[in-house]
Amino acid sequence: MQHLKDTFKHKGKRKLLIEKLADMGIKDQRILEAFDVVPRHFFLDTAFEDQAYTNMAFQIGAGQTISHPFTVAFQTELLEVKKGDKILEIGTGSGFQTSILCELGAKVYSIERQSELLSSKHVIHHLNYNPKLFFGDGYKGNALNAPYDKILVTCGAPEIPQELLKQLKVNGVMVIPVGEGVEQKMLKITKQAETAFTKEEFGTFKFVPMLERTVKK
Ligand code: SAH
Repeated sequence: MQHLKDTFKHKGKRKLLIEKLADMGIKDQRILEAFDVVPRHFFLDTAFEDQAYTNMAFQIGAGQTISHPFTVAFQTELLEVKKGDKILEIGTGSGFQTSILCELGAKVYSIERQSELLSSKHVIHHLNYNPKLFFGDGYKGNALNAPYDKILVTCGAPEIPQELLKQLKVNGVMVIPVGEGVEQKMLKITKQAETAFTKEEFGTFKFVPMLERTVKK
């Protein structure tokens, strides 16, 4: 169960988290402001409410976790989100990252493979964001609404899904953690031309795995 009330106590804790994210190297002021606006504790079970503004990951059901705030901020910064960008997110999970992208003015399409987690739409809508949410397998992307300016993968992919590269616009950017084991390398892939890509690496992270096929409760 979530707690959908935002208090001065929560707001104060958010300011401290934002200072920490800035200390850790997040420079984009718009991202720090988005973290000030989107109440992370709304996306967590009340059991974790007091720790919602620490740099920690928490269980969100179906064996999944909400990403660390730093990871969300870092991936968002790599994505260089502009107002009006059409973004495909793989792994809606709690909906926190989805909401941050919406707050930045992006037009968001987000796919989740666990039907149990689709309930995150209630919190997202409560905050008046309107992303398009899909139950499906992120490996396939969402061809119907392609191409996208940006693609953000929030689960650890064993390899780069070719279908997602196809659904990216030329000059588009995909941010994706890639690795076969428990750790992944954060990659930023830029589509130079229909079949030409550049790849940059940005350190090691730990995500829950990107798995094929959908899971109904
Ligand atoms: N962005 C989320 C991160 C949740 S963890 C947040 O901020 O809370 C990663 C999510 O990816 C999990 O919810 C998991 O179920 C989902 N996932 C894993 N494999 C997937 C796939 N093939 N397609 C779509 N979602 C997937």
